[in-house]
Amino acid sequence: MRRFDYDLITIGAGSGGVRASRMAGSYGAKVAVIESSRVGGTCVMRGCVPKKLLVIGSHFGDAFEDAAGFGWSVDVRGHDWPALIAAKNKELDRLETVYHSLLKNAGNHLIEGRGVLADAHTVEVNGKRMTGEKILVAVGGWPAVPNIPGREHLFTSNEALDLTQRPERVVIWGGGYIAVEFAGIFRALGSEVHIIIRADRVLRGFDGDVRTHLQDELVKKGIKIHPHTWIVGVSKAADCTEVTLDNGSVIRADGVMSATGRAPNTANLGLEEAGVLLAESGAVAVDGWNKSNVDSIYAVGDVTDRINLTPVAIAEGRMFAETHFNKNPMQMDYTNVASAVFSQPQIGSVGLSEEDARAVHEVNVYRTSFKAMKHTLSGRNERILMKLVVDAKTDRVLGCHMVGDDAPEIIQGLAVALKCGATKSQFDATIGIHPTSAEEFVTMREPIAKPTPGGEKQ
Ligand code: NDP
Repeated sequence: MRRFDYDLITIGAGSGGVRASRMAGSYGAKVAVIESSRVGGTCVMRGCVPKKLLVIGSHFGDAFEDAAGFGWSVDVRGHDWPALIAAKNKELDRLETVYHSLLKNAGNHLIEGRGVLADAHTVEVNGKRMTGEKILVAVGGWPAVPNIPGREHLFTSNEALDLTQRPERVVIWGGGYIAVEFAGIFRALGSEVHIIIRADRVLRGFDGDVRTHLQDELVKKGIKIHPHTWIVGVSKAADCTEVTLDNGSVIRADGVMSATGRAPNTANLGLEEAGVLLAESGAVAVDGWNKSNVDSIYAVGDVTDRINLTPVAIAEGRMFAETHFNKNPMQMDYTNVASAVFSQPQIGSVGLSEEDARAVHEVNVYRTSFKAMKHTLSGRNERILMKLVVDAKTDRVLGCHMVGDDAPEIIQGLAVALKCGATKSQFDATIGIHPTSAEEFVTMREPIAKPTPGGEKQ
């Protein structure tokens, strides 16, 4: 006789929850998966996948322009935003069906409804209670919108993906991943775009040169960046939305997007009632085994606010399932997790920024900036940035950063090298592939000058 209805109850059918549940099911566990929205979660339904489809869709504008330098005459008659949204939605419907099949094939019971913890082993959903030997909280995060007058007029990335019309003038609040990615989409499709940031540059946390380079490229594309600026209020006028900034100026827009970060989705989930400790951010506090302070309750993915990336959530889910349902204890290694920003141009990055590396190591920095071969004929005034941060004592490459076409594709390979502990000499010993942009990563010979103690580069 089982003591519990299920071996595992997973709350949230996003990337982490689905991976953990499927694997647990494949190892013979009896698993219930509870989901209140669409199966697939943020990445598949409201994040990475639909966003990337929109990024790809918006890129064609530049491609048509660039083609002229190669002899093409292209008669572009405009872009049909509703058609792009409809095509994207069709693909999401297909993916949702795939996700349903994956859960079914793993023998998981999918329960549609909102799961709330009643105690350390009990979850209530649709008025019914069920018990699980283990409970996995994988409910992700949700956009956090600052509380300002007119907050109700802001939309977030959730709605941005389903706007019925593309706003001709759009103000984006925030300078993180989501802000720069959507700025690129709207701008490439023809919108006037303003980015409002409280810092001097976009993408806090990224390497300083990467931030500066991207910001310069965004400005070249005509995006208006307002540094050291806050939105203090938003109001509806007859024919537009008025955005009032802290410096007193007003921007007239057709849409205002809040991209000011995301918060763990832990409100009203019964976590406190079950005795689960939350971090100050609202995240479920877990140990290296994804376990909360309550022995039967675990959490993976954005709800734990560690590295909030889909592949990380998937890896955490996999390791949770291996540990508990396959007698194969596995812990996540959070070092050298590569990431990409699908801005225009794109960013790929793995390892330490120069600033973080300098805080603990003596480093040599190699940096190059150049025009891609394609733009010698296209005439586009866009430059690529590549950078290596190297430990001066051990010669190990601590960080690789790139801004430019295909950066995420290139950095994925370099992430393997960093995982293997590659040294700069090994990069140098690698023969480049010619003619590519990527070959620059193995041909950078001279380090740039070291910063002086005052912080200025010589
Ligand atoms: P980020 O945390 O990346 O950026 C938030 C931005 O909002 C920052 O510019 C921040 O400013 C600003 N901000 C935050 N609070 C305020 C405030 N009260 N007033 C003014 N500005 C504010 O969040 P995102 O929403 O862009 O993305 C959320 C997460 O989703 C990311 O961290 C990432 O993990 C994930 N993601 C990953 C993607 C990818 O892998 N390509 C794509 C999209 C999302 P400041 O810099 O000054 O702190």
